[in-house]
Amino acid sequence: MTVQGAFEVEPWALRETYLDLAVLAQSESVFALANGYVGWRGNLEEGEPHGLPGSYLNGVYELRPLPSAETAYGLPETGQSVINVTNGKLLRLFVDDGPFDVRYGELRSHERRLDFRAGVLTRHAEWASPAGKRVRVSSTRLVSFTQRSVAAICYEVEPLTVPARFALQSELVANEQLPKPASTDPRAAAVLENPLVGDYQNAEGTAVILTHHTRLSRQNVAAAMDHLIEGPPGILVESRVFPDGGLVTAATVLEPGQKLRVIKFVAYGSSSERSLTAVRDQAWAALTAARQAGWHGLLAEQRAYLDDFWDRADVEIDGDTEVQQAVRFALFHVLQAGARAETKAIPAKGLTGPGYDGHAFWDTETFVLPVLTLTAPEAAANALRWRHHTLPLAIERAAQNGRKGALFPWRTINGQECSGYWPAGTAAFHINADIADAVIGYVDATGDEAFDRGPGMDLLVQTARLWYSLGHRDAQGRFRVDGVTGPDEYSAIVDNNVYTNLMARKNLLAAAEAADRHPRRARQAGIDAAEVGAWREAAREMFIPYDETLRVHPQDEDFTRHEVWDFAGTPPEKYPLLLNYPYFDLYRKQVVKQADLVMAMYLCPDAFTAEQKARNFDYYEPLTVRDSSLSACTQAVMAAEVGHLDLAFDYLGEAALMDLRDLAHNTGDGVHIASLAGAWIAVVGGFGGLRHQDGTIGFAPRLPQALSRLAFTILIRGRRLRVEVTHADATYALAEGQPLEIAHYGEKVQLSADKPEVRPIQPVPSRPPPSQPPGREPVRRRTGPAT
Ligand code: BGC
Repeated sequence: MTVQGAFEVEPWALRETYLDLAVLAQSESVFALANGYVGWRGNLEEGEPHGLPGSYLNGVYELRPLPSAETAYGLPETGQSVINVTNGKLLRLFVDDGPFDVRYGELRSHERRLDFRAGVLTRHAEWASPAGKRVRVSSTRLVSFTQRSVAAICYEVEPLTVPARFALQSELVANEQLPKPASTDPRAAAVLENPLVGDYQNAEGTAVILTHHTRLSRQNVAAAMDHLIEGPPGILVESRVFPDGGLVTAATVLEPGQKLRVIKFVAYGSSSERSLTAVRDQAWAALTAARQAGWHGLLAEQRAYLDDFWDRADVEIDGDTEVQQAVRFALFHVLQAGARAETKAIPAKGLTGPGYDGHAFWDTETFVLPVLTLTAPEAAANALRWRHHTLPLAIERAAQNGRKGALFPWRTINGQECSGYWPAGTAAFHINADIADAVIGYVDATGDEAFDRGPGMDLLVQTARLWYSLGHRDAQGRFRVDGVTGPDEYSAIVDNNVYTNLMARKNLLAAAEAADRHPRRARQAGIDAAEVGAWREAAREMFIPYDETLRVHPQDEDFTRHEVWDFAGTPPEKYPLLLNYPYFDLYRKQVVKQADLVMAMYLCPDAFTAEQKARNFDYYEPLTVRDSSLSACTQAVMAAEVGHLDLAFDYLGEAALMDLRDLAHNTGDGVHIASLAGAWIAVVGGFGGLRHQDGTIGFAPRLPQALSRLAFTILIRGRRLRVEVTHADATYALAEGQPLEIAHYGEKVQLSADKPEVRPIQPVPSRPPPSQPPGREPVRRRTGPAT
C-alpha cells in the first residue's frame, strides 16, 4: 500500500488517514454518497467544520431569475438551481459539557474510508476534549442503492480513559446556513438562502418528520428519521421539533469499555405533483421499510447490489495501482450518479455538490450513458426516459426558435433551457444528436425493443426533424448546418462544425432506420416516405469540410484559416482561458478548449481514414488546452487508436485523477462525473479499442508500456462479456447465454458461453508523439521512452 497525495492507494477503497481542513470541501465531494436520487456530501457528522454542507434530492430545485444584461428574443428568463435540502446526516456529540469539534481539543487520529464494494463511508476518530477527556468516535453511513429514499448511519462513541457524560443529538435541519461562494467562477453555484418553507413537523418517540415546500418551483419535500439507541441502562432519550429542525437526544454516562450506539435511519420524499400529505407519508413508509430491513439488512442489500454491479462492470488494471484505484472510484461515482435517478436527470456533478447549479448537460448522454449502457443498462434507459419525458418542452423550444422537431436544452434540471449565454448554450445544437447517439448505443447494446419502438424512436425522430429544419442546401447542393457551436466552446457560432454535422448525419440516418423498423409507429407519428427520404438525402449530402492544403479536417469550415493562439505568450496562471481572456479573442483564434474534431473521430470512426485520424490528431494536439475536464478521456481514446499509447495513458491518468488530485481546482463543488465516466471510456474505448460499428461491437486492444494486463467486463444483450488484454493477446469470454458475434480488429469472432477465444494483438505503428501547448502537457505517467 502506498500513499499518493491525500489518499492511500488500495484497490477497492479510498482511504484518508488524517483530516486536512484545508481540503475539506474536496474531501466532502469525493466521499459523497448517493444513489441517483438521494445525495449526501461527505460532511462530518457533527456538521462543522465544513467546506460546503450538502444534501440533495435529484430533481428538487428552486427557480430563480436569470437576468440578461441585454434582452433578446428566446433567452430564458428563469433559471433553476439545485437546493440543499433537509440535512439528515447530522449527529452532534457533547462530551461532558463541550461539543465534539475537531477544531478544539486534540484530534489524535482521524480516518475516513469509502468502500467501493460495501458502498459505505466509515470514519474513526480519537479525540481529546479541551478538558482532556479522550474518546473514540466511529461511524458508518450509507445511501441505499436498494431502498431509493433511504440513508442510514451507525454512530458509536466510547470514553477511552476515564468515565464521561455524553449527549448525542441526532438532527434533521432544513435551510442550513451556507458559506458564501468564494469566487465568481461561472462553474460554481448560485447560493439560494432559505429555499424551503416549513409546512409540518412532528416528533413521536425517537422519530421525527419535517415537511417543506420550495417557494417558486412548488415542490414538496419530506425528511424523516428514526433511531435505535443502544448502551448501558439508564439512557435518557428526548425528542424536539422546530419549524426548520428536529432532534433526538440520547444522554448517558459511560465508563471506559462501554459504548453508546445510535443507528439513525433517514428517509426522504419529494414531488412537484403529489400532495404534501402524500409526500409526508412516502417518507414515513420508506422509514418503516428501512427499519424493517434493519441496519444489517441495509448493509447486506448494499453489498449484494454492488457485488452484482462489479460482477458485470469491474475493470482490472495491472501495472499502475493508483490508476486501478482511480478507475474503480470513478465507476463507483458514475453508478452513484445514475443508479436510481429513474425519471430524473443525471447532473454534471451527480449529487455530490452544487456545481453548475445541479444542471445536466450533454455530459450525460455522451460520457455517462455509454458507461451505464454497458454496465447498468436499466439506469441508462431511465436517463433516456427522463429526456423523453421532457420532449414536449423541447418541441416547444424548437417552435419558439422557428424550428421543427425538438430542441433540447443545453443545461437544465426540469427540461427547460437554463443557459443564459446562448453562444455556449442553445447554439450547442449538437446536444440533440448526442441524445440520439445515446439512444442508438443503448438500443444496439441491449436490443431493448420496447424502448426502441417507444421513447427511442420518438427521440430519434424529433431530433432528426430538428436537423432537417436547421440545415439548408447551398448552391452546390451540400446540406449545411450554419451558425452552431460544437463541443469546443472556444469557437462559437461557426458554420459546419464537423462534429455536429457528422453526428447530425448519424441522427438522420438512425431516425430513417427506426421509421423503417417500425412502420406502424411511424405512420402514427405522421412520418411518411417523403420525410424519411428527405432525411436520408440530407444525410447523404451533409457537408463535411476538409482542408486540402493542410490535409486535415478543419474543426469547422473556417477554423484552419484563423490565427493560431499565442500559446508561448500565455503564462500557466492564465488557464483556464475563459476566466482570463475575452471570448471575442478566443473565438477568432485556433485554440481548442476540449476535444471536438478529435471527439468526432471517436464517435464517427467510419467517417475518417486511418491516415486522416493520425494527421488530424497530431494537428489538434498542439491547439488543445483542456480547459474542460471532458477533454482528456477523448484524447486518450484517439491517442491510443493512432498509436500514441503512452500519451493515451497519461490522459487516462488525468481523467481518472481529476477529483482525487483536484486537477480542475473545483472538486469542492462536486466531482466531475463526465471525466470519471471518461476514465472508463479511456480504458475500454482507448486500450480496449471498443467501437460500435454497424450493430457489431468491435475491439482493437492495445496496451501502453506501463500496463502488463487489462481486463474488463461489459454487459451486451444481457450477457456478460469479459475481455482480457496483455501485450501478446486478447481473450474474449462470454459468461452466459446465446452465442455472440464480435469483431477483433475488424475480423469476426463467434463467441459461445464458456468457450473463450484468444486472438493476437496487432502491433501499433509507432509515430513521433505530438506536442501540447506549452505548460498544458498531461502529467506523465508513462514509463520507459516516449512513443
Ligand atoms: C464544458 C461543457 C460541459 C460543461 C459541464 C463545460 O466547461 O465545456 O462541454 O458540458 O462544462 O460539464
